[in-house]
Amino acid sequence: MISETPRVRFAPSPTGYLHIGGLRTALYNYLFARNQNGKFILRIEDTDRKRFVEGAVENLLDTLKWVGLDYDEGPEVGGEYGPYFQSERLDIYKKYAEELIAKGKAYYAFDTPERLKQLREEQLKKGLQTKYDKFALTLSEEEIQQKLANGEPHVVRLNVPPDETVFVEDVIRGRVEFNTEIIDDQILIKSDGFPTYHLANVVDDHLMKITHVIRGEEWLSSTPKHVLLYEFLGWEKPVFAHLPLLLNPDKSKLSKRQGDVAVEDYRDKGYLKEALINFVALLGWNPGDEQEVFTMEELIQKFSLERVHKAGAVFNIEKLIWLNAEHLRSKPNEELLVMLKEEFKKSEYSNVDIDDEHLLLIIEAMKPRVEFVKEFITKCPYFYEAPTGYDEKVIKKRWKEDSPGLLKKLRDKFAQLENPAKEDYEKALNELAEELEIGKGKLIHPLRLALSGIGTGPGVYDIVHILGKEESIRRIDTALEKIKTPNTDSTEEK
Ligand code: GLU
Repeated sequence: MISETPRVRFAPSPTGYLHIGGLRTALYNYLFARNQNGKFILRIEDTDRKRFVEGAVENLLDTLKWVGLDYDEGPEVGGEYGPYFQSERLDIYKKYAEELIAKGKAYYAFDTPERLKQLREEQLKKGLQTKYDKFALTLSEEEIQQKLANGEPHVVRLNVPPDETVFVEDVIRGRVEFNTEIIDDQILIKSDGFPTYHLANVVDDHLMKITHVIRGEEWLSSTPKHVLLYEFLGWEKPVFAHLPLLLNPDKSKLSKRQGDVAVEDYRDKGYLKEALINFVALLGWNPGDEQEVFTMEELIQKFSLERVHKAGAVFNIEKLIWLNAEHLRSKPNEELLVMLKEEFKKSEYSNVDIDDEHLLLIIEAMKPRVEFVKEFITKCPYFYEAPTGYDEKVIKKRWKEDSPGLLKKLRDKFAQLENPAKEDYEKALNELAEELEIGKGKLIHPLRLALSGIGTGPGVYDIVHILGKEESIRRIDTALEKIKTPNTDSTEEK
């Protein structure tokens, strides 16, 4: 039994960007390692030269850094079991391929692509499963040596024994059985001398002392091949845990067509890393109670493989947005200020002169009303620029025949205030409403429209206070001048 420190790995093939599913795999490995006081290793599986993408590794490392999944061993940080790039370990795989050949558990095969194509076509015609027919095993030792000496193109294949049952013990799925009849004699070393995923993955998991292999369900069908490799090489198998598929809301497999799948797209759209981590953690796992909002620390404390479920996990973007708002609201205003200033630089108001004190007031007023940091700008542009127009619907509903006169009186009241605090504006408005024996709404709604151009937003006293007395008066004057359509509908205002 495995008793040493748990060691788990995230082993992506760098294909250009980190997929949301990859992030989930990385996260579960990370949470498991941190929960168990184990080690989390990053290994780059870059043996498929055809899929090489320039800059893919850098992008992957950047994304992992952004979400805060720090690894104990891997690229840049090193470690005792490196190198952590498979492309730098080719000799190691070759050695084990040769060991398997010597044991009769793997063999050289020299078939031409034409022969393999023909074989496949024949099998398909007969309605058989398409797999290699072990023709290479009919070659004599001399023939093999001769062909090797002649430099004939060849691969190394796994010698899968016929009609045996291979068991995969999976923490999430229990015991899964495979009959070897359905397993092809997998190529282990390709004709370019590079190993396939299967050989490199098993050799590295063994040499890197990986105790638990936690990966997506799409790898489950490869696992019997891996189990055979462990057995043939006389190695102890790791514990396997295959994570449920990620699904679109219509239950199809998560795909680009129905939304973003690259982690960087979510970052670029302004999602907080805390929200994304929280969301991804819940794609396949739950703590067994009602809690839905988690910090990384809480996830580390509560995570267990036993609570990962088998059923596919549906990707629900509304939930991610909700979590974003939750995490945003739990952040201190000072932290939001730093983020808002970044957004501000990129916004159309970048040259507006506004100090931190005002931005903090905006944050405080708008915090319950935004889901994304950029909405501290987009949902309340009036804090940065006087309204350039007035919402017609609001005018129709809120700007009555008596509104200009009332607003003018309110303006004069405000003008008399000296160094007003927020409460002073409220007091002034209340007093005026009492004096005139009118409902406060008759003042509040036109005031809000004059200041912001729209009918919704934070408390109107917050708006006056943030804009300041001078600016508020200026905006009231402008509105009195510009809004020319007194509404004749005399329905009493609330
Ligand atoms: N390189 C594989 C991938 O891209 C790793 C699968 C595994 O974890 O074994 O996902």
